[in-house]
Amino acid sequence: MNVFNAQHDMFRQAVRSFVQREVMPHVEEWEAAGRIPKSIWPRMGELGLLGVEYDEKYGGAGADLMTSVVLHEECARSRSGSFAMAVGVNTDMASPHLYWTGSEELKERYLPAICRGENLTALAVTEPGGGSDVAALRTRAVHDGDHYVLNGSKMFITNGALADLYFVAARVDAGDPTRRHRGISMFLVERDTPGFTVSRTLDKMGMRASDTAELAFQDVRVPATHLLGREGVGFYEVMRVFQRERLVAGLHAVSMAQRALEDTIAYVKERQAFGAPLSEKQVIRHRIADLATTIEAARWMTYAACLRYQAGEECVREISMVKLYTAEMVQQVAYHCVQLHGGYGYMREYPIERFARDARLLTIGGGTSEIMREIIAKEMKL
Ligand SMILES: Cc1cc2nc3c(=O)[nH]c(=O)nc-3n(C[C@H](O)[C@H](O)[C@H](O)COP(=O)(O)OP(=O)(O)OC[C@H]3O[C@@H](n4cnc5c(N)ncnc54)[C@H](O)[C@@H]3O)c2cc1C
Repeated sequence: MNVFNAQHDMFRQAVRSFVQREVMPHVEEWEAAGRIPKSIWPRMGELGLLGVEYDEKYGGAGADLMTSVVLHEECARSRSGSFAMAVGVNTDMASPHLYWTGSEELKERYLPAICRGENLTALAVTEPGGGSDVAALRTRAVHDGDHYVLNGSKMFITNGALADLYFVAARVDAGDPTRRHRGISMFLVERDTPGFTVSRTLDKMGMRASDTAELAFQDVRVPATHLLGREGVGFYEVMRVFQRERLVAGLHAVSMAQRALEDTIAYVKERQAFGAPLSEKQVIRHRIADLATTIEAARWMTYAACLRYQAGEECVREISMVKLYTAEMVQQVAYHCVQLHGGYGYMREYPIERFARDARLLTIGGGTSEIMREIIAKEMKL
């Protein structure tokens, strides 16, 4: 069964070629620098890799979800989880807030530059006090004439130090704990707005080329027209975009695992022990067969959810299962692939070591495994 058509295949070739020539040779350098150069975004825009699903009138390609699936699979094959994550956040986690809920005026003003890669985007929901309980966020937005005034801070924000545009979740009715979900709204904040600062760039275990920052908002005046959607319904918008994010996280997990397995197969075929390649030992062949089987199961589970999502079906349960299963699966793959590399698997010079550190994020970012289990149990009406 093939879920991709000839156009998707052509697009895959284009992304693969870009990733091989313009991303993979620089992965080590970007890891050491702790950031991906901003020049990558206009280049991706030039190649038509940004805003692939957005309407052509805003500079997008008007393509379908499976085109985005191809994009994310190929970015995650780069052996840089950081690169895949930076792209995923920009295209499927942050900018959809504008495309889905922004006014026509805002979309006309900002989307073309996003599609050209001139404006990088970030999503700022998590706060130092907590990420899982989104409804408890404390950043405040107070209506003041034709502006809102934002105060608060955000934590662990991907593309946080380098973004040009931030989609920020804030509570409009500060001080009323009974409103929880209903008090939240989304705002578009330009980087240069007075009172906005990048407090610090965070040092991480993995995904080291992806910039992750803490942000501060001190009396940041945002035009009232920068409110996305209706005041107070932002929580539901965040949850809607989270579905996209979790599908993309599933695609990343599967594709990263697939690449790691391919690297490991190449290694065990080459590596000699006790007079023969490791790949000839039955225990190793069986381990690889098990890993390949788990990845295949995760892949088809993810595709099935993508197709349901594309068809507009209600699939929160399925997407949460994808996020949970693929994130846990990639931990197993990481453990065994490092093990199969022996001592070299522990060395920085082998990409498998970076893969193991990058993969660790996947049970945490975009909603933890525990939160996915909560959502699944709730959907099952337990
Ligand atoms: C590298 C990185 C990049 C990120 N990028 C972004 C970004 O771009 N934008 C953004 O807004 N956020 C981002 N995040 C934040 C991420 O979404 C949160 O870290 C995540 O949602 C968990 O929130 P927390 O870290 O506050 O953990 P907490 O919510 O404090 O949870 C701590 C632990 O308690 C568990 N827990 C919490 N509640 C329950 C419960 N009810 N039942 C059982 N267990 C529970 C959690 O599963 C977790 O194991 C990023 C995080 C990282 C590490």
